[in-house]
Amino acid sequence: MLTPVFLDNLPDALPPIQRGSELYRLQRSRELIDLLAQDSVEWQERDCPSCGAKGRAQHFTLTPLAFHRCLGCNSIHAARVPDQARLDGLRMATLSDGRSDPSVHYAQRSFEFASILNWLQIAAARYRDKALRVLDYRFASHAPGFALAAAEDAAVEGREWHHVPLQAGGEPFADLAEALARTGPDAVLLQAEIDRAADPGLLLARLREGLPSGALVFVSSSCADGLEYEILGPRSPSFIPLDRLNLFSIRGFRQLAQDTGFTCLESSTPGRLDAVILKSHFDQRASNDTPFWSGFFRDANRDRLQDLQVLLQRSLRSGVMRFVLQVP
Ligand SMILES: [Zn+2]
Repeated sequence: MLTPVFLDNLPDALPPIQRGSELYRLQRSRELIDLLAQDSVEWQERDCPSCGAKGRAQHFTLTPLAFHRCLGCNSIHAARVPDQARLDGLRMATLSDGRSDPSVHYAQRSFEFASILNWLQIAAARYRDKALRVLDYRFASHAPGFALAAAEDAAVEGREWHHVPLQAGGEPFADLAEALARTGPDAVLLQAEIDRAADPGLLLARLREGLPSGALVFVSSSCADGLEYEILGPRSPSFIPLDRLNLFSIRGFRQLAQDTGFTCLESSTPGRLDAVILKSHFDQRASNDTPFWSGFFRDANRDRLQDLQVLLQRSLRSGVMRFVLQVP
């Protein structure tokens, strides 16, 4: 399996926290507390959703919703979840509350969108010799600027895009099965979506059933092996429980994908921010309470942070994970 490294320059500092993203985090926390307080919610207890290990886990965080770290594969997961329709309904309400203008959103996140489109372009060229027909499952609903980036990509590169919007209700992922049958794609983008699934194995199974031999699946999610999660645990700024019901390890996700019938072609951890997030964390704390790392980050200059970030990518230890899967 290929493990590409995405070398580029680190940002000079953490992007300023935007009020919109801070409000989003607070809103998701409030939704989780409301969810926990409702008697009508049926919760499903889970074993490790990556490798299926039963009871071999340690606590990652206990409150307000318990998360476990699997001792078999190192993935982190919510110990119990509500059904998918309820999760999707909550998310739709959040997105419609704070929906920003797609063109403003596109301008704010154009670097991220370009990175996703480059990834598709470079990886697809290794395995397919014609322009792809790509189905995006829900990312354009979560990130409204992405539809504009995909439209530019279609005009320049000739790729055809279909966006399946987030919707609530019905059988889990029936919308995906219907869209696969209707549009007949030869690639699917699952960007920051499988983290939020009550049953990620079912989501992959729907893809496997609906795609022809040779089709590619581009999966991106948070990565439990990342140094940020290892050091900061649930204090990591990336940990929003309702959006991180499944934090896969490389090993755990590879096993899940193979168990569902996919071939894993490539894996990578192209995160750019682990080093600057950790430096910011240790700069703000007075005590030297973390052996080695407190001093390492306080004394780190930009070159040291850059070297560390490259090392994290090379060793698959950054906080964002990408897989390219293929239907055999
Ligand atoms: Zn596991």
